[in-house]
Amino acid sequence: MFIVPEREIGGLMTRAAAFDAVEKVFAAMAAQDAYNFPVVREAIGHEDALYGFKGGFDRAGKVLGLKAGGYWPHNLERRGLINHQSTVFLFDPDTGKPSAMVGGNLLTALRTAAASSVSIKHLARKDARVMGMIGAGHQATFQLRAALEQRAFDKVIGWNYHPEMLPNIAKVAEEAGLPFEAATLEQVGQEADVIISITSAFAPSLMADHVSPGTHIACMGTDTKGKQEVEAALLARATVFTDEVAQSISIGEAQHAVGQGLIAEADVQQLGAVINGTHPGRKSADEITLFDGTGVGLQDLAVASAVVDLAVAQGIAIEVDF
Ligand code: NAD
Repeated sequence: MFIVPEREIGGLMTRAAAFDAVEKVFAAMAAQDAYNFPVVREAIGHEDALYGFKGGFDRAGKVLGLKAGGYWPHNLERRGLINHQSTVFLFDPDTGKPSAMVGGNLLTALRTAAASSVSIKHLARKDARVMGMIGAGHQATFQLRAALEQRAFDKVIGWNYHPEMLPNIAKVAEEAGLPFEAATLEQVGQEADVIISITSAFAPSLMADHVSPGTHIACMGTDTKGKQEVEAALLARATVFTDEVAQSISIGEAQHAVGQGLIAEADVQQLGAVINGTHPGRKSADEITLFDGTGVGLQDLAVASAVVDLAVAQGIAIEVDF
């Protein structure tokens, strides 16, 4: 089997490779060639840690495995390690033998950014010019960098609950040669053609009547029961897409709109269906589209498999007899 350590991922994985891997696996999920296993997530009663597994099998890509890991809230203060820790394990689907162990920390940010980026490619208006950000934490920088590659944006505007964090995303805009303006939530909703929301909030920031017709919104922060970034009524105004419907309505942004009876499960479409051409996607320039990105194990496996191929090709993968 091959080992690809966390320290090598940055030099190997490109945004383009992550985008391709995630777009393909979303398509395979919608074609029912790939499926995610039930997620296990446990508070282990030690170090206040949350630990779990996200697994799946992609028959089309021949990728089988799981991501193991979670959240250790005291890592940074006590050990100088980041709080999110994860590792991906891949198995040969023909034999069940382990085939690779891959550092999963940077890959998680890259695959999450690739998901919103795939949604922008397939759902945002082609003439989108203003990019709006809600959130300015760790994931937000990856999200913005990937989003800016999808349309000819000429400006980035952003709001964050903690305004002192806005320079994190302003720097990404500047690196891409674009001006950045701090904005109110109302301004983000009115002016932005594409909005990414990536916060850890448990109450809505963006309200339904903030948002202009024709906007594409990627809600990427809500991945747990109780979290919420946008008003539930916004989902009733929008055409709603997701990575996986079961997750969207239980732990994603759609949990609230479905729970309040504003939309039904059948109103939530898989983004993969748009990629495959079995759903038309955006139907008019005035339509509001919303991608509920909940994060599925198959995304992790797809990018890990791609990075193993790159590591082997470049002679960086460590081969062990196991
Ligand atoms: P972070 O701690 O670096 O940043 C948190 C962000 O949320 C900051 O912008 C902060 O200002 C904002 N925030 C905090 N409290 C808020 C409040 N009450 N109202 C509005 N905003 C508030 O975290 P991160 O690593 O950037 O992760 C952000 C979120 O994305 C988390 O909820 C995480 O679980 C989620 N996430 C989702 C996926 C996925 O696949 N969908 C993957 C990774 C992370």
